[in-house]
Amino acid sequence: LASLILVRFGELTLKGNNRQHFEKAVIRDMRNRLRDYPRARMKTSFGRAFIELNGEPFEPIADQLNHVFGLSSFSPVQSCDAEAEAIRETALHVMSQLERIPETFKVSVKRPNKNFPMDTLQMQHYIGGYILPQFPGLKVDVRNPEIELYVEIREKHAYVYCEVYPGLGGFPAGTNGKGMLLLSGGIDSPVAGWMAMKSGLDIEAIHFHSFPFTSERAQQKVLELAQRLSDYSGRITVHMVPFTEIQTRLKQHCDDRLLITMIRRAMMRVANKIAERREAGAMITGESLGQVASQTLPSLTVIGQAASLPVLRPLIMMDKAEIVRLAKRIKTFEISIQPYEDCCTLFVPKSPSTNPNAKIIEKLEESAPWLEALIAEAADSAEVLEISGEKQSHELESLF
Ligand code: ATP
Ligand code: MG
Repeated sequence: LASLILVRFGELTLKGNNRQHFEKAVIRDMRNRLRDYPRARMKTSFGRAFIELNGEPFEPIADQLNHVFGLSSFSPVQSCDAEAEAIRETALHVMSQLERIPETFKVSVKRPNKNFPMDTLQMQHYIGGYILPQFPGLKVDVRNPEIELYVEIREKHAYVYCEVYPGLGGFPAGTNGKGMLLLSGGIDSPVAGWMAMKSGLDIEAIHFHSFPFTSERAQQKVLELAQRLSDYSGRITVHMVPFTEIQTRLKQHCDDRLLITMIRRAMMRVANKIAERREAGAMITGESLGQVASQTLPSLTVIGQAASLPVLRPLIMMDKAEIVRLAKRIKTFEISIQPYEDCCTLFVPKSPSTNPNAKIIEKLEESAPWLEALIAEAADSAEVLEISGEKQSHELESLF
């Protein structure tokens, strides 16, 4: 049983003010997540923090830490007085808590407390020599040990641990500005949103629905996806945009082969309007090169030209297997594969153009004078929902 969790955060490249800003944001996120564990106390010092558990359980708190961006790793730690005998007893205790006795190990001592009576090497031998005979078959291997037992000796206390769990890394929420995520009900866009969050973007989501061609259940699915994302950010704003009329009118207006490009451009323009109103600096999509006809280089170019803000595509060079692996890890996959259709599946023609011509598309749009007004109307009539964390799930259900 650990009495503390040692948390390490930081980005290697950060300096000065940026570093402070970064650390503050990580600490704020961790504090919010510890609220449900009132006895847990957090103490911070440069680049790291200690969480004193005071009887609170390790596992659920570790799960919370697995949702914190900007966190590089953490370890369950035993602390004791900075006194040689207490330290070696604690070291023995930590070793005996391991699920399986390793074949090889090594003791690594750090000694920031320069007044400690034994030096690093002496202390390593003192602890190692005490532990070895207690576990038959255990050997020391300084090069490639199965278990590394870390001991850090400070002024008053010493810390002992041997497990290091990787954190998510990345940048804490909002440290790099805000992005507007185009969130469909598919597998890709939630993953794209998560990656954008990991890059320090605060996210709002926008979803285009074609009610009544698509069901309310399809919208609920999107809100559930948003909720999974909010597990990482605490909350997320979702803009639900009625898109039926634009899609139906465009379908009557143009050749089937160009329909998907026209629809995507209209989406971009609505999203761009809402993004600007919400002071987002970019849009984010789940597009991935070559996946479908609308994701060839020429298609992406023509679609992107409808937006004045930059369009970020975190998945652009990932293959489907990698995307699915991430979707499973962030727990959006199970929701995405539910069979409710999002609007586009209904309006996707059999053989869309993979090489749409920008001039032709622009001409088509010019010959649709009603389009501009419908785009403005769609942006204005978006329904805005606030989704936050797991506890809101029952409220979600009552929405429909
Ligand atoms: P996804 O799995 O995210 O749906 P996809 O591979 O199915 O992606 P498309 O359906 O071509 O690809 O959509 C490309 C991108 O356009 C999506 O990743 C998403 O960002 C955006 N998008 C598509 N449909 C919608 C929608 N109904 N609402 C909001 N954004 C959408
Ligand atoms: Mg899709």
